[in-house]
Amino acid sequence: MTTVLVFLDHAGASLAKSERELLSLGATLGDVVVALAGEAEQAYLDGIGSYGVGEVYRPDSAEASDVLVAGKAVFLTEAVRASGAEILLLGNSYEMKEIAARVGVRLESGVITDVVALAGDLTATKADFAGSYSVDCRVTTGIAVLTIKPNSVEATEAGLPSPPREVRIPVEVPEAVARITGRTDKPVSGRPELAEARVIVAGGRGVDGNFGPLEDLADALGGAVGASRAATDAGWIEHSAQIGQTGKTVSPQLYISAGISGAIQQKAGMQTSKVIVAINKDADSPVFEIADFGIVGDLFTVLPQATEEIRKRGL
Ligand code: FAD
Repeated sequence: MTTVLVFLDHAGASLAKSERELLSLGATLGDVVVALAGEAEQAYLDGIGSYGVGEVYRPDSAEASDVLVAGKAVFLTEAVRASGAEILLLGNSYEMKEIAARVGVRLESGVITDVVALAGDLTATKADFAGSYSVDCRVTTGIAVLTIKPNSVEATEAGLPSPPREVRIPVEVPEAVARITGRTDKPVSGRPELAEARVIVAGGRGVDGNFGPLEDLADALGGAVGASRAATDAGWIEHSAQIGQTGKTVSPQLYISAGISGAIQQKAGMQTSKVIVAINKDADSPVFEIADFGIVGDLFTVLPQATEEIRKRGL
């Protein structure tokens, strides 16, 4: 039986949707084991076990779970060796892609990023040129190291929570890596992660520095707030909110685009959303070509009305 190693790095109280997707995909390919770099609550470990995972590999060194990728790549390389995995699955964030590349070099293995579909014979389909082309490819050297885009596969239902066996791996982090420490300060908004959100309200240059009406609508719908590059470059919202070719790829049930013109680089990150609603005061804006519903109007008038109506109806 093929061993599939899934790298998880979230370690919150429960598994994120994208993590459940990775575990579900892994189960279609072979026996799944997990590598976990950071600290984890028992409920999180039990959640991993509920996907039929019997073993979780963890580093015995704090440097291997530091915020920087180098230590994690060293650990993950050792976890692949210890588990005998032939397939390594990771998420698709910038961090995961960098770790994948470093592990690929260490193991002399091929790496495929941005995978949107994976067949049983490991033919990977990836989106290229900002989603304009779909490319089928396979790893032919070493183990298959693959980063999977969120929302590419359906997460299966979990079974009963059960604690997996922990295997501690001795990891010797190179001195140059161990010399660096850091910390991540994530903004606390209480809203869901962009990649996890069922509803996203995204704003562009038309927002003109005021994301308030978008945040109100997102909160009324239990959604997240995203942005075009014009808005993040202007410093109106943090860069992690950027959606598009050089930002995040999202695929929510509902994407509300406000004051965004719909450039190809923005489309690349959101065109697979289930329902797209566009609000723009220019009736000829290209965003209306990809919208399921279009509203020609001023976002500062339309959004508060929508929020008020949703709150009134208690939706
Ligand atoms: P604009 O194109 O200026 O559009 C603003 C829109 O707001 C207009 O359509 C206007 O009619 C409307 N508007 C103005 N005021 C209002 C109002 N009050 N109410 C309603 N509508 C209003 N872009 C991304 O988004 N994501 C990426 O990842 C990304 N990566 C890129 C990578 C590269 C290599 C390059 C070259 C570009 C990239 N871009 C990306 C930039 C992209 O080309 C566009 O410049 C950008 O998406 C434009 O942002 P925008 O739609 O917010 O602004």
